[in-house]
Amino acid sequence: MGSIAQQLWLRLDRLRQLWLRWDKLKLRVGKLAELASLRLAARRWALGLVLTLTVLFVAAGGLLPAVALLGLAAAVAAAAFWRPSDSAAEAGATAAAQAGADARRLWRMVIDAVPEPAVALDPAARIVHANHQAEDLFGTRRVGGHIASMSRDPGLLAAVEEALGSRQPQTVELHGRVPVERRLLATTVPLDLSAALLRDAPALLITFRDLTGQDRLARMRADFVANASHELRTPLAYLKGSVETLQGSAKDDPVAREAFLKTMGEQAERMSRLVDDLLSLSRVEMREYLPTSGEVDLATVLADVAQTLEPIAQQAGIALSLACKEEPALVRGDYDELAQVFQNLVQNAVKYGHGGGKVDVHLARERAQKLDRYRIDVIDDGLGIAPQHLPRLTERFYRVNVAASREKGGTGLGLAIVKHILNRHRGELLITSTLGQGSTFSVLLPALP
Ligand code: ADP
Repeated sequence: MGSIAQQLWLRLDRLRQLWLRWDKLKLRVGKLAELASLRLAARRWALGLVLTLTVLFVAAGGLLPAVALLGLAAAVAAAAFWRPSDSAAEAGATAAAQAGADARRLWRMVIDAVPEPAVALDPAARIVHANHQAEDLFGTRRVGGHIASMSRDPGLLAAVEEALGSRQPQTVELHGRVPVERRLLATTVPLDLSAALLRDAPALLITFRDLTGQDRLARMRADFVANASHELRTPLAYLKGSVETLQGSAKDDPVAREAFLKTMGEQAERMSRLVDDLLSLSRVEMREYLPTSGEVDLATVLADVAQTLEPIAQQAGIALSLACKEEPALVRGDYDELAQVFQNLVQNAVKYGHGGGKVDVHLARERAQKLDRYRIDVIDDGLGIAPQHLPRLTERFYRVNVAASREKGGTGLGLAIVKHILNRHRGELLITSTLGQGSTFSVLLPALP
């Protein structure tokens, strides 16, 4: 087994060396070609004279055309590869070739360093270089091909043509639906680099800004405001309606007044819970990126939470039990925030649990490979959650059954708060559930050594 791996390794190493040699060869051939073209350019007058004389001799009948062609080919080859005795001229040509290569490497490096997708085009709109971000956005690099081989967007093609023609920057918005919906802003900027110094110098730089994330954020913000106002408006409308009824038809009806006042109290309670959860969410969101500095014992947090929620569990006819395999269970964190996490999870387990059933909370330490963490499972034997809902449960206001959640005093923000607090604590939330059998909400938190 070992010797097969060794042989494989040797072969791979040989292949790598061959590849490196091939790369060096390509570089050397490239340099030679560049030098040859520079020498030909420098000797173009002499070559022109040779050509004129040859044509004259052939015309006068003193030279066979085949011989003339052979002679011309020899003259071109000599002009391209013969080193002049004048070493200063040769040194100049070599220095010019070197400067060209350096400049080319430099502008490519600059394009690679652009943090957004960037593509350089030559004057004929052919791609001369594209950075990795552009490759990720448009698939494989298509260097040498026309820009249309990368994107067929008519707006982009028109902007490229316009920028190359007018030498003025252009900005255009691109909309794509494949593979996902996306909005990009493309800017085409003409470059006035000296073409004499740089062969295949870029004539145009296109940069792309992906506005999809920005759009999604704006949409989320608008959705959030719409959801929050809707949630507040419902109890508010009920309160307004009740006040009007109490002032009007139910004015002198003590039974109706009692019933209305009771429901009004419940609706006011609901509004206050919602405002509390909204404030809590905004607080944890703001602190999400602040590192935590305190040390917290999870066993103590869980014992306190279990003690606080015991009366609610008893009221619902649910047996709440706590089992800690590790004590103390120290993590870096904020006591109040971690207590809020387990309070939300245990409260949900009681809320959506099975009357007469049980809720178990387990704490254990997990050591696997480089990970050393605590795992807290909150297990109920309630309704369970269908698999299609699981990935969306931590979204704000997402509820499997809106009416059931409202009836149980839910706001739809609890798990969103849990997610943000766990992000701050570098923790994870895992949810597993079987419909009709119950759910397990597991929290994973890095252990302190
Ligand atoms: P809510 O205030 O509505 O309980 P959460 O964010 O805490 O909001 O939970 C979101 C939704 O996840 C709930 O409305 C409920 O549908 C579902 N859910 C949460 N915990 C459980 C659980 N233990 N069993 C079944 N469903 C649950």
